[in-house]
Amino acid sequence: MNTPVILNRSTLFAALLCFCSLALIGQDVDSTTTQAINDGPYVFIRNDSLIQKDVIDGVIQTSIMRPGSLETNFLSAPSIYTEIDKVAALSDIHGQFELAVEILTNNKIIDRQQNWKFGNGHLVIVGDIFDRGEKVTEFLWLVYKIEKQARAKGGRVHFLLGNHEYMVLHKDLRYLHPKYVAVSDLFKMSYEQLFSENTVLGRWIRTKHTMVRINNILFVHGGISPEFLLKHEFDIETINRTMRESIGRTKEDMKTTDFYSTYFGSQGPVWYRGYFNDDLQSETISDILDQINSEKIVVGHCSVKEVVSMYDQRIFGVDSSIKLGHYGEILLIVKNAYYRGTKDGKRIPF
Ligand code: ZN
Repeated sequence: MNTPVILNRSTLFAALLCFCSLALIGQDVDSTTTQAINDGPYVFIRNDSLIQKDVIDGVIQTSIMRPGSLETNFLSAPSIYTEIDKVAALSDIHGQFELAVEILTNNKIIDRQQNWKFGNGHLVIVGDIFDRGEKVTEFLWLVYKIEKQARAKGGRVHFLLGNHEYMVLHKDLRYLHPKYVAVSDLFKMSYEQLFSENTVLGRWIRTKHTMVRINNILFVHGGISPEFLLKHEFDIETINRTMRESIGRTKEDMKTTDFYSTYFGSQGPVWYRGYFNDDLQSETISDILDQINSEKIVVGHCSVKEVVSMYDQRIFGVDSSIKLGHYGEILLIVKNAYYRGTKDGKRIPF
């Protein structure tokens, strides 16, 4: 059966604009000078002490934090949730802190003071906070903060790991903004060491998932491909754990078996682009959804100009090109209604 997918305008647009995120590798090295650098905090855990290091005007300032002022032991949250009324999802922030904050604020996920405002809703960040832009640290700490605030209100923040989180943590540093190259020079450490197991953010990131299922919707950075399902029985918790446990290994090491190609290859969950680029049959989408026991999939990773729906609203793409720093959107799901939340907070129903 070769029924072609009916492409709606959004799908066509998505297909035309989905370009490999690697295409932006030529991002120009700007004139960031060491003197102008402000970054941090990076919080290192030494025995029972917390050592805070900030870069202020290009100089590392060290202070000892009050014991217990930050958590140092984190547990992974569940990967599956049901009966959630409000969900919001965006992805591919790539260091564009101000724009992401504007989108989150205008869509009432956070307030003007950058505190949680989404009540018992779930916010999913569908991967790729790291790389490209220059305010990665700021956004990580914001997520860290609102995650805690959300829980206190019965909500959740899910920071899913995308290919760029794994690239950095697997020591592939090709996409760092020049600022972070300078920061790691100042620290005399490779950048991923700033997120080692002996740091607060490093420990926190090591508990994060690659995918979550909320109600009937799977959220994952790249997508689930037919090829992945041939290799792998679909069990969310096992896949999340397996991928998480790869952090700290190098690509070279993982490539000695088919481990790397299964989980981190072009058909793997954080790199797959098939929904956008392969013009899949409607039946193929149905098969995938059946096998993963979901009715919809929300992905990032393929940059389009707005949040899009494809394949009869069974696949949603939420990488709305925030990485370019000008515009972006958020997917809002309230009960069973789906909306694009625009940068200025308008809701446009699908
Ligand atoms: Zn990506």
